[in-house]
Amino acid sequence: MNPRRHLFALALAAGLLAPLLACAESKPDDLALLRARQLTIPVQSVTAAQLADTYLQERGGGERAHEALDIMAPRGTPVLAVEDGRVAKLFLSKPGGITLYQFDPSGQFAYYYAHLEGYAPGIAEGMSLRKGQLIGYVGSTGNASADGPHLHFAIFRLGPERQWWRGTPINPFGVWRATPPQVAGP
Ligand SMILES: [Zn+2]
Repeated sequence: MNPRRHLFALALAAGLLAPLLACAESKPDDLALLRARQLTIPVQSVTAAQLADTYLQERGGGERAHEALDIMAPRGTPVLAVEDGRVAKLFLSKPGGITLYQFDPSGQFAYYYAHLEGYAPGIAEGMSLRKGQLIGYVGSTGNASADGPHLHFAIFRLGPERQWWRGTPINPFGVWRATPPQVAGP
């Protein structure tokens, strides 16, 4: 493979890492379902009031939407599992750095934790997780700024194939904070 093609292949692979692009729309009741589970905020000591909605921010120079929540915290702050489930994948990616994909107990949703400084001792693919369990530490691996360590956290509804890398994104902000009501016409 010549270097140009190789770069192209790398770019393609990087694109595939983003958990996007599913055919199925997320159902409107997904958010209600997730809210009812009272998920743990995945960065220790961060409260709902401190969260900022960064879901629709542009990334890649406007090429794509962020579709995740950035939770700023000092490097090394414990990252906690938002609920029970299992570790679907431990993955090192160029944009996400050290990442962990968790499936929920029903296998309907994936939780994605990125830019980790590292994993907690004993974390391994396939293992069960308990809500609130230490899974890793806030860092700036991947394309995060070294000056702004944070957890990049995403939720997506899995497709029928339950592939850890793809699904329909859901805004995590709405799980912990009220979102403005959708006004349906006059
Ligand atoms: Zn992010």
